[in-house]
Amino acid sequence: MRTRFAPSPTGPLHLGHAYSAILAHDMARAAGGEFLLRIDDLDQSRARREWEDLIYQDLEWLGIKWDGPVVRQSENFDLYRTTLDSLASYGAVYPCKCSRADIAAAASAPQEGVPEFGPDGRIYPGTCRGRAYADRTPSDALRYDLSKRVRGPDKMPAFTETGPLYAGEYEVTADHLLTRVGDPILARPNMAASYHFAVVLDDAMTDITHVIRGADLFEASFLQRFLQWEMGLQSVTYHHHNLIRDDLGKRLAKRDDARAISKYREDGATPQDIRGMVGL
Ligand code: GLU
Repeated sequence: MRTRFAPSPTGPLHLGHAYSAILAHDMARAAGGEFLLRIDDLDQSRARREWEDLIYQDLEWLGIKWDGPVVRQSENFDLYRTTLDSLASYGAVYPCKCSRADIAAAASAPQEGVPEFGPDGRIYPGTCRGRAYADRTPSDALRYDLSKRVRGPDKMPAFTETGPLYAGEYEVTADHLLTRVGDPILARPNMAASYHFAVVLDDAMTDITHVIRGADLFEASFLQRFLQWEMGLQSVTYHHHNLIRDDLGKRLAKRDDARAISKYREDGATPQDIRGMVGL
C-alpha cells in the first residue's frame, strides 16, 4: 500500500486536513506500506512558501513522518504539457474560452432529475467543441470532448471505494460521464493543468495505490478514474472519509482559520486531542 497526503499550500491546514493526513499515514503504516507527502502547488498564483512551511510544522507536530522526498506539482509542469499534447493527438482536446457566465447562459434550462453541476463545475454545454487544438491560446482552457470518446455501452472502467459512506464497486458509465460530469477541463487558462488532470498523473507517477481524502471528492473519482483509463494509467482504490463539520454543520474551508491546526497547537491542544476531535 502506498498512500499520500496532498495539501495545497494556499492556507493553513485545518481539522479536515488533519483527518486525511492521519488516516492516510496510519493506513499505510498498518499495512507496512509507504506514505508520501505531495505539495499541490499547481496554482502558482495562490501557493505561498509560508503556508508550505506551516504544513511541515503541523505534520511534524502531529507525529506524521512521510517517506522519501516531498513531491511537488510545480516540478511536473513539463510532464503535464507533454501528456496533454499526446492526449490531444487523438483529436478530443479542444480550447475553450467560455467564462462561467457564458456557460451559465448557454446551459439548457434545468430539468428535473438532471444535475446542473458536476465535479468540474456547471456541466458544460459543449459551446467550443469543434475548435482545433492547434488554434489554442494561453488564455484558453483545454477541455476533453467526451462525446468523441464515450459512446454507448462500450467497455468502461470501474473503481473500488472502501470509505464508510460509499463503500462498493462503481462502474464509470458513458451515461454518468455525459450527464453528470460533462467535458472536463484538462488545463485552466494560463496554467499547466487542471486539478483533476494533474492529480491523476501525479498519483500514477508516484505509484500511489490508495487515495484517501474527504467525501466531497467522491464524485470527482468517476472523472479521475476515466482520465486514468484514457491515459492507460493504473487504477487506485479510493477511500473517502466523512467531512469534519463546524458547530453549525458546515464543511470546514481554508478560510476557517479558527479551526487551523496551528491555532489548536497555540492554544495548548496535544496531537492526541486532534486525533480525538476527528474521531481517530
Ligand atoms: N490538493 C488537493 C486538495 O487539497 C488534493 C485532493 C486529493 O486528495 O485528490 O484538495
